[in-house]
Amino acid sequence: SLSIGFVGLPNVGKSTLFNAITRQTVLAANYPFATIEPNVGIVNLADERLDKLAEIFGSQKLLPATVSFVDIAGIVKGASEGEGLGNQFLANIRESSAIAQVVRVFEDTDVIHVDGEIDPSSDIETINTELILADMQTLERAIPRVEKEIKGKKTDKEVLDAMLAAQAVLERGDTIFSSIESDKLEMEYLQELNLLTAKPFIYVFNSDDGVLADEARKQELADMVAPAQAVFLDAQFESELVELSEDEAREMLEMAGREESGMDQLARVGFETLGLQTYLTAGPKEARAWTINKGDTAPQAAGVIHTDFQRGFIRAEVVSFEDLVAAGSMAEAKAQGKLRVEGKDYLMQDGDVVEFLFNV
Ligand code: GDP
Repeated sequence: SLSIGFVGLPNVGKSTLFNAITRQTVLAANYPFATIEPNVGIVNLADERLDKLAEIFGSQKLLPATVSFVDIAGIVKGASEGEGLGNQFLANIRESSAIAQVVRVFEDTDVIHVDGEIDPSSDIETINTELILADMQTLERAIPRVEKEIKGKKTDKEVLDAMLAAQAVLERGDTIFSSIESDKLEMEYLQELNLLTAKPFIYVFNSDDGVLADEARKQELADMVAPAQAVFLDAQFESELVELSEDEAREMLEMAGREESGMDQLARVGFETLGLQTYLTAGPKEARAWTINKGDTAPQAAGVIHTDFQRGFIRAEVVSFEDLVAAGSMAEAKAQGKLRVEGKDYLMQDGDVVEFLFNV
């Protein structure tokens, strides 16, 4: 499944945040038989629609979608000059589908900053430079190989052109992901290289109360990393929050004047950044959110429940979540003509409430 890898300088709060995530990991409900690696944390995607569905269908269990995070060791400035980023680090980060960069914004004289001062923009540049240098090394190895393959007519010249264009982007200090459109990069020819900076980024600004309450400062930081998304949280606060019961946590959030926990925000932004969406199923047993890609068809969505559902797909009965809630019941939605019958070419929409019909 898709995962998001954490990177960042030492002492920015990665372990603190990751420990909070690990404590939230929902082994019980969704993954009764799965073994989860110690460096993987799974966070529920908060979804109020499931509560509503459970009311309508009398569902006993709620199963939200989840987002997986992987803890990757810290990047140290200059890593690329000596041995390069460690092999284990590179292997882990290559497997991630997106990168969450933890950036220190919190002030605390007791916690030493590796560069001596709090400077988010300089920290981001340090990390991105390391990732860019790693990608340049990848290209430096790949280009001579591809040139040889072109001579032997085993590869098309377009592949080399795409790699040279990517190299030019990196050489001027930009990431691949942020240059896909401006430089018309032919990503299909770069896929196999698994370039680190071709992955979508999220910036997690580990903040203190002062920053969290300072809208102008947050806007400034968000603008700095746009179009990548920014998440603002207090890792220490989050690690305290996960120790509390659901009610206590809600109360503590309200007292802090926050609508959403940092963890919920991180899961929501991560889910979006991975290009995912959910559709819903509901019955007396459970109300459940299923994870699919944006742009998936109905049979692909059915395949997430079971491969047989995809193979034997006949049709889907679909009602949008809003229409269902407005109608108050499935029968009433049907009476109002809101229940649609959709075929194999139907493109799923976020929040579709679905029942699949299939042959076995
Ligand atoms: P890592 O090296 O990036 O994994 O950083 P750690 O999670 O180990 O954090 C480094 C130090 O900063 C620890 O002493 C944490 O308790 C502290 N720390 C982490 N997050 C926060 C925060 O949000 N506020 C403050 N004041 N301290 C924090």
